[in-house]
Amino acid sequence: MIVDNLGRSFKNLRVSLTAACNYACTYCVPDGKRLMPARNELSADELLKLVSFIQQAAGIEKVRITGGDPLVTPKFDDFLIGVSKLPLSDLSLTTNGQLLLKKAAVLEESGIKRINISLDTLNPLKFKQIARGGDLETVLAGIAKMQALGIKIKINMVPMRNQNLSDILRLLDFSLERDIELRFIELMRMGHLLHDSSYQQEFLSMQEILDEIATVYSFQRADAPFDSTAVRFHIPDKGYFGIIANESEPFCTACTRLRISSDGYLYGCLSSSRRQSLAELLELPSHLVLPRLQRLLVSALGDKQLSFQGETTVMKFIGG
Ligand code: SAM
Repeated sequence: MIVDNLGRSFKNLRVSLTAACNYACTYCVPDGKRLMPARNELSADELLKLVSFIQQAAGIEKVRITGGDPLVTPKFDDFLIGVSKLPLSDLSLTTNGQLLLKKAAVLEESGIKRINISLDTLNPLKFKQIARGGDLETVLAGIAKMQALGIKIKINMVPMRNQNLSDILRLLDFSLERDIELRFIELMRMGHLLHDSSYQQEFLSMQEILDEIATVYSFQRADAPFDSTAVRFHIPDKGYFGIIANESEPFCTACTRLRISSDGYLYGCLSSSRRQSLAELLELPSHLVLPRLQRLLVSALGDKQLSFQGETTVMKFIGG
């Protein structure tokens, strides 16, 4: 196993299937333009090969499928079924939920157990303003369908001071009533937000989110796995929620994540644009693949940081 001097190794792999998305969220893209696939995106087979190599070289245990939105690409079905056959301890998916109903059959066939669904508001009008695509009712129907299939759901919400502050409690009630763990993601300085004053205006810290929740609920801090990105809280007799507090309580020193972009680059850190090309591995004779990949993984591990610095890289390229 490749380990750095802080004891960090790669255990969780996130695969961005496409940079294309059917939303254009205010915090992800500046101009509301719908996101297109990256140039030279790899096929499902090529991505599966890379995942399998990385699984062998780095001892990856968990894979999360992400994007863009992974459900918008035609390669989703083949990739999902292929990756579900690899010897992994955990397979999960992050999506905005807009196409969950359409993909219910293949999701069921794959045996996937966990899906994170991004949802920033329960107000249909605000939904249109923030997501700038899709509609709320379809996402809610998708959540209900996944729960009916026995798939464990988490909801990801990005709270913003001027856009959805009042949805913090509404979404928490909605989630607690349905046995869903809600994850608040502190707004990250990614893409256009890195140099935009709207970042400071919209950012809500973990303490501010907790203060809002404390107006209604009592809660205490709960255990979370060592390399969890979320700080978890328990509301007695109600359930759990979490906060991904990349600014208030950075988790970089325990980060075990590694990412592959849809065009075949390896990223060791979400907050660094440094990347290694994996495309050449697809052409190499098999006995040369793992030694070469080991060197790329050492480089990617060296890109990990001590705290979240922010990056101009847009989240859609390397997956959230
Ligand atoms: N389209 C899928 C989705 O909506 O979940 C997967 C990709 S999206 C980039 C993954 C997650 O990143 C979403 O939960 C989204 O809200 C979050 N995200 C994107 N940009 C962000 C930012 N600047 N700060 C915090 N979270 C962000």
